[in-house]
Amino acid sequence: MNITSIACPSARSAGRVFVLSAFGFLGTVSAAHAQTDTITDHRATEVYSPVPPVVTPGTTCGDAPSDATILFDGKNLDSWVSVNDGSPAKWVVADGILTVDKKGGNIQTKASFSNYQLHIEYRIPSNITGSDQARGNSGIFLASTGKGDDGYELQVLDNYNNKTYVNGQVGSIYKQSIPLANACRKPGEWQSFDVIWTAPVFHTDGSLASPARVTVLHNGVLVQNNFELKGGTRYVGKPFYKAHGPSPIKLQAHGDKSEPISYRNIWVRPL
Ligand code: MG
Repeated sequence: MNITSIACPSARSAGRVFVLSAFGFLGTVSAAHAQTDTITDHRATEVYSPVPPVVTPGTTCGDAPSDATILFDGKNLDSWVSVNDGSPAKWVVADGILTVDKKGGNIQTKASFSNYQLHIEYRIPSNITGSDQARGNSGIFLASTGKGDDGYELQVLDNYNNKTYVNGQVGSIYKQSIPLANACRKPGEWQSFDVIWTAPVFHTDGSLASPARVTVLHNGVLVQNNFELKGGTRYVGKPFYKAHGPSPIKLQAHGDKSEPISYRNIWVRPL
């Protein structure tokens, strides 16, 4: 973009004079910077270490890369437990996919994580019923900080022609951040979330040192852009932080009456 043309599109040379005059201090700063930059060899600004690790991407987009930790590969729930009592997770695994058992309660990973990249796919059943929050409701808790729905929920919901409060629609950080777009596919189609999660950090006295941050792509569309969370997500009341360390990733068995949704191809890359 040419600032001269913006300042005076019909008289470029006159505009240039105007810009230099009006923002003369910029020229002064720029000149001072040039005087202190005595580097003349291009090699002086070229860095050769640390060398990034070689990671082999998945064959097709969404496939786990070579360094990913596989959380669900379609075979079993060995990496998951029931949140209520820590017993083996009881959701239904069949035909390579994982379907929510609403009576079985939330499930979470055995492993705990801090910062990570997460890939997860879900499908709203084609025969889904209900409306508002009672239509394919589930959720991905990016850190499970306790029983029930304690943690930080990335909302999963069918919002294909289904309205609800916008800070609770799919792709929202529940009741904290409205998604930047509604990128829903139709019920019956597989959909994806790709998440970059930066965990909150706490001082030894439990006070917050740095808040959690999250970036989310929904079906390849940016819906959360480095959003800074205000604390755990809550159905009632305002969010707040309570200190925690590395935490499991949790999936929600929501109690609405609609047909249960399914998940597949879940992997994570700790960062
Ligand atoms: Mg939910």
